[in-house]
Amino acid sequence: MTRPASVLNETLTADAALRARAARVVPGGMWGHLNAARLPEGYPQFFASAQGCRIRDVDGREYIDFMCSWGPVLLGHRHPEIEAAAQAQAALGDCFNGPGEVMVDLAEDLVAMVPHADWAMFQKNGGDATTACVTIARAGTTRRKVLVARGSYHGALPWCSPSLIGVTSEDRAHLVHFDYNDVASLQAAVTDAGNDLAAILVTAFRHDMGRDLELPTVEFAQAARAACDAAGAALIIDEVRAGLRLDLGGSWEALGVRPDLAAWSKAIANGHALAAVTGNDRFRDAATKVFVTGSFWCGTVAMAAARATLRIARETGVPAHLHAMGLRLRDGLAALADQHGVAIRQSGPPQMPLVLFDDDLDVRKGRAFCSAALRHGAFFHPQHNMFLSAAHGPADIDEALEAAAQGFRAVRELR
Ligand SMILES: *Cc1c(COP(=O)(O)O)cnc(C)c1O
Repeated sequence: MTRPASVLNETLTADAALRARAARVVPGGMWGHLNAARLPEGYPQFFASAQGCRIRDVDGREYIDFMCSWGPVLLGHRHPEIEAAAQAQAALGDCFNGPGEVMVDLAEDLVAMVPHADWAMFQKNGGDATTACVTIARAGTTRRKVLVARGSYHGALPWCSPSLIGVTSEDRAHLVHFDYNDVASLQAAVTDAGNDLAAILVTAFRHDMGRDLELPTVEFAQAARAACDAAGAALIIDEVRAGLRLDLGGSWEALGVRPDLAAWSKAIANGHALAAVTGNDRFRDAATKVFVTGSFWCGTVAMAAARATLRIARETGVPAHLHAMGLRLRDGLAALADQHGVAIRQSGPPQMPLVLFDDDLDVRKGRAFCSAALRHGAFFHPQHNMFLSAAHGPADIDEALEAAAQGFRAVRELR
């Protein structure tokens, strides 16, 4: 016997039931960018499993994943070689009184792979790494001012959080702002910092939420390098989001500009919790003297996973694959948008795509597109850059494009 629709509607989905329970024991039901209020309609908050480029929510619905856990999943969920490396290490122990041999192995791997790096240190979250870079730059220069681009994300710590709630002006006292890719504004900020300039901190490319993505111009990258050289300050590249997706040696290698310090996390251990700072010999002393540490920073399992991730990324040429799959997605989306008479803008490197709709300040079109595509099995994001993984093949992209066609249909039908 089929149940009447009214009864079905009263049956809570597993996701809704978990949200109701979370609302009682987790403030707001969830923190930060994962708060349900920020999700497009129909998006699940809770997930049950994942494999390759597919994720499954707690109600058993499966999606082709274009968020890759917001960056960490580079080679695909539960990649067999990564998980084997992690499990082999886990069988020996993860959390000891100090690091394992794997820490030195991994530091050697990074120093060999990243041209600017003479050394590496490890943490857990991207914010640990960006904060450590700033601390090392200040220690090495005995100066205070750090230049950051307006709107760039470097983590959720008080000195760099996008929200000012619970943050004091003292937390931000020595930040000076400039506009990404704007050489004149960068130089004005350098002048402003005067002889107190410790560092210029800049994301690998401009990936601010809700606006078109922008690769750095050569002029901008060179101006940042030149300003740091002239002042004896540190050029810090925040590779936390872009790292390993554009260029395994560092995202600015193609521009011929190398940082003094770089912060890495997200993709470096294919979903295992790990961050790293790489640096050159100019800042080795400072990095030796600062006191930075964390209870879980020596965890061996994530380091073993990172070694396997770096090795596979090198052997299989991951950035080129992501680029090819990203282009296939981009070309397909452009054709579909045309067919449906919907105007979109696609920006950024194909490995980390963003789709924005024209005349869509309230993101109504973007949300309608994503909600409809989700119902047909593709997990996109309306405002944040998305991520490709090595597990995405041509057939997955083509399947996702069928879901996207439903998304464009929904946008066309908006009133
Ligand atoms: C995510 C991110 C961070 C912060 O990393 P967490 O692991 O969330 O602390 C820093 N910088 C950039 C560019 C990021 O995308």
